[in-house]
Amino acid sequence: MTESQFDLFSGADPAGQNIAPARRARVLLPEALPEPFDYAMPDDLDLQPGDLVEVPLGNRVLIGAVWEIPAGPTLLKKPLRPVQARIDAPPVPERLRALIDWAAPYLCAPKGLLLRMVLRSPEGFAEIREETVFLPTGLRPPRMNAARESVLAAADASIGAPLTAAGLAQAAGASAGIVHGLAAAGALKPVRRPVDPPFLAPDPDFIRREFSPDQRAAADHLEGAVASAIFAPILLDGVTGSGKTEVYFEAIAAQARHADAQTLVLLPEIALTQDVLARFETRFGARPAEWHSGITGRARRRAWREIAAGRARIVVGARSALFLPYQNLRLIIVDEEHDQSFKQDEILHYQARDLAIMRAKLENAVIVLASATPSLETLHNAVSGRFAHLRLPARAGSAALPEITLVDMRADPPEKGRWLSPKLVEATAETLARGEQVLLFLNRRGYAPLVVCRACGGRLKAPDSDSWLVEHRFSGRLVCHLTGFSMPKPRFCPTCKAPDPFMGIGPGVERIYEEARALFPAARVAIFSSDTALSPAESQTLIADMKAGAIDILIGTQIAAKGHNFPMLTLVGVVDADMSLKGGDLRAGERTFQLLSQVAGRAGRAERPGRALLQTFSPEHDAMQALVAGDRDGFLAEELAMRSAAGLPPFGRLAALILSAASEAEVESAAAMFAQAIPQAAGIDVWGPAIPPLAMIRGTHRRRFLARSDRKTDLSAFMSAWRSRVKIKSAWRAAIDIEPYSFM
Ligand code: ADP
Repeated sequence: MTESQFDLFSGADPAGQNIAPARRARVLLPEALPEPFDYAMPDDLDLQPGDLVEVPLGNRVLIGAVWEIPAGPTLLKKPLRPVQARIDAPPVPERLRALIDWAAPYLCAPKGLLLRMVLRSPEGFAEIREETVFLPTGLRPPRMNAARESVLAAADASIGAPLTAAGLAQAAGASAGIVHGLAAAGALKPVRRPVDPPFLAPDPDFIRREFSPDQRAAADHLEGAVASAIFAPILLDGVTGSGKTEVYFEAIAAQARHADAQTLVLLPEIALTQDVLARFETRFGARPAEWHSGITGRARRRAWREIAAGRARIVVGARSALFLPYQNLRLIIVDEEHDQSFKQDEILHYQARDLAIMRAKLENAVIVLASATPSLETLHNAVSGRFAHLRLPARAGSAALPEITLVDMRADPPEKGRWLSPKLVEATAETLARGEQVLLFLNRRGYAPLVVCRACGGRLKAPDSDSWLVEHRFSGRLVCHLTGFSMPKPRFCPTCKAPDPFMGIGPGVERIYEEARALFPAARVAIFSSDTALSPAESQTLIADMKAGAIDILIGTQIAAKGHNFPMLTLVGVVDADMSLKGGDLRAGERTFQLLSQVAGRAGRAERPGRALLQTFSPEHDAMQALVAGDRDGFLAEELAMRSAAGLPPFGRLAALILSAASEAEVESAAAMFAQAIPQAAGIDVWGPAIPPLAMIRGTHRRRFLARSDRKTDLSAFMSAWRSRVKIKSAWRAAIDIEPYSFM
């Protein structure tokens, strides 16, 4: 029994007396707790599973969800504390509870942490607030003056979206007192309404497109799947710009024709979400509900309520939108399904794409995974027939795919101190001369990734993490990209004490910006990275400027690579194509191929053919050769064969155990205990403990184990059993990562 469980019982033990309360409720709390706790159900509350309730835990009062109403009385040693109140908010739907019940053992995570994903926005179940708005009645009071005239004019102008007294007063440049005076005189009518207006219903036929035969066939398949209303996983596999979005819009339209069906569209990046939201509005004549970490508390409350009430029909969101309380989720789209950002590694380790498939199964819904470069997991499912496989092999309209060429940096190096090869510089000049745009891609923020002392050669490392500090010239600071720690450049080398000794080694986007400015002084150059575009509004502005042709050369990190359509962008230059090969983990080749085809795919639309130049020191690498030959299927088939031979995902299962503690000695002793406690199990290999590349993060020391099994083995059960064999000290943390993507 845990300490907190003990806290549930209050008052004196009535001397061993067994008490059987008439009715109990098992309540799951949004804490790192594995199971629900029992509470007494007061006579005046008729609770049902899913209801949100307030219950005491220790000396706190928490909001939890009723998980179960146990049948029949049970004998207890101590009286149960009662449920304090039911919250007037929509309950957690049964199928979402089923997802949590399934995911917790699979992810080796406490159920309470999964519930926290659902209840993370307490705004959602706050009391529904109302406000008073004022509508004109058409009556004109006998006594009029200029202020009254302008308030009535403002009320007439706002009939479609009526305003509050304060809103009307502001619009009319008058005081709120005038509004109330007019209401008293019968010229304005006060109306009470919820503060959060409902979302407009999407219009499936707001605009329609003429489709190519491939697009038509794919759209027909999706519409058919939606009509059958049973679980159907589908891979929508089409080259960049082939119309995948337009095609899945047809599935959403088909769904929108059913009065209460809801659709969830998961997108990897918030910057991208903004761009796509406008496309939804264009297609369906209504803005969808939006869900990601960037929305305001008010928008969050409105979205949560409207989704729970089933009135928000299309929800576009980041991975956390998976845990919302949909009433009738009939369709899930995972766009850019291969994207690594669907894997969350903070607090809870989960792959949103995989949970989305399970959610679709539990909801009996259709799930569409869309990508130009599917993950090997999804491709394997499609090839083996578990998923339907729809292909869009050509770009929409007359657009052709970009021509990809390699620049061998050994044979064709840049000038000393520069990073752009003569070939890339020449191609850039030609493109600019035609009045077209260039994207220079480098997935590295800041100016220089390493800061080195000229005197002793020492590199500057973050004080509390195993990570090199990155020089940022624009902000004048040295930044740790792992934790966000930053500091000004020190005046003396901390090792050899030499004064002002530091130089930046290697390129970041700021350095490429400097080089582009020097090479093309007349060009308008901009940087697109999470440092320069901090808010969705800022990235919107950059995207709009790029679309409008107000930028000639865009220098971007990954956020510039995704999803945008820039009609005048015809050249993509990849500054360091080898970068993502370096990690060396099992997905390095796959990830490099995905990223580079996605970046290259930004080049060329409609009438203007595009090209991509990849600067590489390893032109012979399979991924580079496949990119040039346009042989995605050949490349992925080879990767699959290698994974199959090694028994790696998707042919086997992996799980990581990550230990952390405040000191090296503590983490060593934790690792030794875990090494001794490895359960014996046939067919499961365990490696470790290993000192990971990031052996220290924010002063916390780390060790890793990795376990592998075949697909049929329940590796999650093995990992949980292993962890439960060790008495974990409170100073340790032992996290399990099922199907890890990061091996750092
Ligand atoms: P993908 O999602 O595969 O990258 P999109 O759906 O974004 O492709 O399509 C690329 C561009 O082509 C978009 O501007 C889109 O509006 C346009 N497009 C695609 N199919 C059609 C079509 N059938 N009719 C008109 N425009 C289309």
